Amino acid sequence: MTADLPIVKCVARARIPTTQGPEIFLHLYSNNVDNKEHLAIVFGEDIRSRSLFARRPNESQTDRMIRGAYVGKLYPGRTEADFDDRLGLQLKFASDGTLIVEDKTTWNGVTNDTLVRIHSECYTGENAWSARCDCGEQFDRAGKLIASDEEIETGIKGGSGHGVIVYLRQEGRGIGLGEKLKAYNLQDLGADTVQANLMLKHPADARDFSIGKSILMDLGINNVRLLTNNPDKIEQVEYTPYIKCVERVPMVPIHWTNENKGIDSVEIEGYLRTKIERMGHLLQKPIKLHANENVTTI
Ligand SMILES: [Zn+2]
Repeated sequence: MTADLPIVKCVARARIPTTQGPEIFLHLYSNNVDNKEHLAIVFGEDIRSRSLFARRPNESQTDRMIRGAYVGKLYPGRTEADFDDRLGLQLKFASDGTLIVEDKTTWNGVTNDTLVRIHSECYTGENAWSARCDCGEQFDRAGKLIASDEEIETGIKGGSGHGVIVYLRQEGRGIGLGEKLKAYNLQDLGADTVQANLMLKHPADARDFSIGKSILMDLGINNVRLLTNNPDKIEQVEYTPYIKCVERVPMVPIHWTNENKGIDSVEIEGYLRTKIERMGHLLQKPIKLHANENVTTI
């Protein structure tokens, strides 16, 4: 029934305290379609990867803790992965080893709507301080929104500490970093971001979100509040009847709501204009998409 999606497996997860305040759980995935290490940045200890937590033959409790399949919090000398004696949390498993979802220990992705960002890797925007695009700002913004109850500037309801940023390793809308750098030179020669890709004989957007869907399903996320300005992404992320976008949460550029903050550059204005005019991105208030119903769990 899910045969058309890639098969993903969470290899490991670890708690990462962050410089921004909230701690996150970084999940690393393998899959059966490429050799890239796709990631899920998970806010909330109780959002659990089904593939990571499933019991494996002949494994020890220590094996489980080392790969991150534990409940609660690790501490020096802890011996049980499935039971946190300090927090009084106990995981339960079916006879075939699959995790049993109980509200006390595990986030229920059907009864809870989950704030989700599907983010594609952008080395220049995230690590080289690029002001050619808003990827770095959007990435930061997604994390802040998921961690908070509400974004003061916009009134957007946050995730209150629960949510997921799926981080897909598809640099430059899927064309790779080398080709993206060539596209930047074409842009400096007068092309816009769509034209530049087409001149290099790449599609305007070569990204694929199917691995992202598989990761969301592995994390038990069914009702999604999707952080995006891209209306096409809603269809690309929905997977009836398992994953439903119940709301689109816009990512208005910070500089538009506060001219003293956010990225202010000629390049980014052109980039955002292209997104709006050529790619149909919508930059406006949250839009309700569906009632929260008729979702099937896996
Ligand atoms: Zn970017």
